[in-house]
Amino acid sequence: MTELSHVLGDPEVCTGCMICVNVCSMFYFKVIGPEWARARVIRLENGLDFPLFCRNCEDAPCMAACPVGAITRTSKGILVVNNRKCDSCGACVTACPYDAIHLTPDTRKAVKCIQCGECVKRCPVHAIFLTSAADLSKRDPEGRLMRLHDRHSAELYDGGERL
Ligand code: SF4
Ligand code: SF4
Repeated sequence: MTELSHVLGDPEVCTGCMICVNVCSMFYFKVIGPEWARARVIRLENGLDFPLFCRNCEDAPCMAACPVGAITRTSKGILVVNNRKCDSCGACVTACPYDAIHLTPDTRKAVKCIQCGECVKRCPVHAIFLTSAADLSKRDPEGRLMRLHDRHSAELYDGGERL
């Protein structure tokens, strides 16, 4: 099987400028607005800004929850939503443990990060990158980043100020 990859953010580098989020909403929907973006940035009380993206989970609870089969995995391992099939029920939104999929404000279709890399290219401080388990173990052999994300998971995925 293709090694699964996803975009990951480093909160110790991110400045919370929101360029990634705005680039995303502009690129796909021609509007500036976090509620449109496939990425989000959460600011915690300790001053850390977490850029957050779909983890492209191996077990994909979003795909399992979709009652109409609108979410599928590409040959590159990326989970994508078929807009024509999505019936806006929100089951994927409820199922996602990472708050990484939501319904667009206008058509109410499910939308999530598809690893296009537009935000990665434009982050002025290189706080976000595309990675996989093997890549991450080389970049971060001590596991600092995932520990940081795990330590704050309750605030990140259940509350936390959305910038
Ligand atoms: S563009 Fe970079 S620095 Fe700005 S919010 Fe996104 S990840 Fe953080
Ligand atoms: S949308 Fe959520 S459940 Fe689906 S693959 Fe991404 S992180 Fe996992």
